[in-house]
Amino acid sequence: MKRRQFCKTTMTAGIAAAYPFLVACEQKAAAPVATVVDTGIPAVSLSGVDIEIEKAAIKELGDALTGPVMLSGHPQYDQARQVWNGMHDKHPALIARCQNNQDISHAVTFARERELLVAVRGGGHSWPGKSVCDGGMMIDLADMNGVSVDTDKKTAIAKGGSLLGQLDAAALEHGLVTTAGVVSHTGVGGFTLGGGFGRLNRKHGLAIDNLLSAEIITADGQIRTVNAGQDPDLFWAIRGGGGNFGVVSHFEYQLHPFNREVLSGMIVWPVEQAREVLDFYTDWYAGLSDDLYVGPVMMTLPDGTAIIAMETVYAGDPVDGEKELASLRKVGKPLEDGIKLQDYMVMQTQEDVAFGHGIRSYAKNGMVKEITPGLIDAMIESFRPDPRMAFFTHTAGGAVKRVDEMDTAFPHRNVETMLIIAGGWKDPSQDAEAIAVAREWYAQLAPFTGGYYDNIEFDDEDSGKGNYGPVYDRLAIIKGQYDPGNQFRLNRNIQPQA
Ligand code: FAD
Repeated sequence: MKRRQFCKTTMTAGIAAAYPFLVACEQKAAAPVATVVDTGIPAVSLSGVDIEIEKAAIKELGDALTGPVMLSGHPQYDQARQVWNGMHDKHPALIARCQNNQDISHAVTFARERELLVAVRGGGHSWPGKSVCDGGMMIDLADMNGVSVDTDKKTAIAKGGSLLGQLDAAALEHGLVTTAGVVSHTGVGGFTLGGGFGRLNRKHGLAIDNLLSAEIITADGQIRTVNAGQDPDLFWAIRGGGGNFGVVSHFEYQLHPFNREVLSGMIVWPVEQAREVLDFYTDWYAGLSDDLYVGPVMMTLPDGTAIIAMETVYAGDPVDGEKELASLRKVGKPLEDGIKLQDYMVMQTQEDVAFGHGIRSYAKNGMVKEITPGLIDAMIESFRPDPRMAFFTHTAGGAVKRVDEMDTAFPHRNVETMLIIAGGWKDPSQDAEAIAVAREWYAQLAPFTGGYYDNIEFDDEDSGKGNYGPVYDRLAIIKGQYDPGNQFRLNRNIQPQA
């Protein structure tokens, strides 16, 4: 296939394919811990207390659900409990693999009646592993995947366990698109509920800005359709408030006409030219059109070459794109200029292998309002030539900025970019040291940031309050209305307000 050949032969795709954490690794299933006893199975309550769930009740749940209820020992249990980040090896007491709204409603009700800890799994890509738990119930949406497109209305409905690649593929087939993230095996669920940054967000906004409605099963087991006119507070809250408010079984997105042949790719320079590249970028980015997504990446290839790259996608007429990108392409002496007209899915899948399932991964990020000379100095000075780690950016501005910070539950609107340090490795003995490297690297950038994107954050120490900032109080009231018992707490948790 042409695309494969491209990926193998060019340096830019080589970068994508050559992150050290490139190779998806096998996750080994540890020995199950939950043991079936005569009358029940051990489990953990919402407050962390050991409880027992009656076997008869589990059987009843199994009879009520279309999908399977899996306990330790079920042939699919070990596969189902695995999540993307290999650092999280947890054993739920039971896994309800839901097939439809009714299944979710039964599972939610079962857990609520027993005050059982609940984790909700969409695509399983939560960095801190929030979609799996020890001893609770995992509500698993992996089978609820699929995307349907209404070409007249230019909308798409994605089931809650769909992956971003399914959303992109279904929309592109009809010459349409919406904002999706940069790794196609990420789930639409957590991605959308947390905000949803992607290469089209300067033009079309975040995923939540394209969300028209959702079906959500709340803690009382009710199946609700929410949109601007129906349960508008809840609809506001799920656009940034994460999984705090229930299990979303369907997301409806606005689509936009799109020519999938886009001017896109990476320009790569040796890291020694970082000053020249970043100084140019500082002066240049402020005047960019909404069509252009462009941001720096700094990393070390497995052969030891340290590079700085600019990742670009021009979502408009390529002729205009060539003009807008011309000055960037004249900067310094690139090792490779990989910008060319190519299928949008090449960019949307180029990091899929690098961020493969089962890697052990850590990430930190922060929001940046202005790209200042001080920040550029910090980017250059903080760079660590460690092939396990990389510096990325998620470009914002444009349509992201034009939404008021109170209009959705995602308040970090007035930002130009997001700085990310993310890495991956395979050897568990490297966990502590690799995390320390990432934290030290990020610490030098942190003074230039304000707030962070919860979806790309591993650390869990702080409550969500500070980061939600001005939207927190409203979120707490809505949480109190729809989830007064805080059943959905494995997320950046919002405490319900009575
Ligand atoms: P899960 O682990 O399944 O869930 C994450 C959280 O959301 C959990 O709290 C879970 O309970 C909740 N949740 C998930 N689905 C539902 C649902 N249907 N209903 C209710 N709650 C639900 N983010 C971006 O914005 N842009 C990117 O380009 C991007 N790239 C990424 C690349 C990689 C390799 C990874 C690992 C993450 C990336 N992210 C990106 C971050 C991503 O948005 C979050 O990790 C997100 O939580 C993933 O969603 P998920 O459904 O796969 O995760």
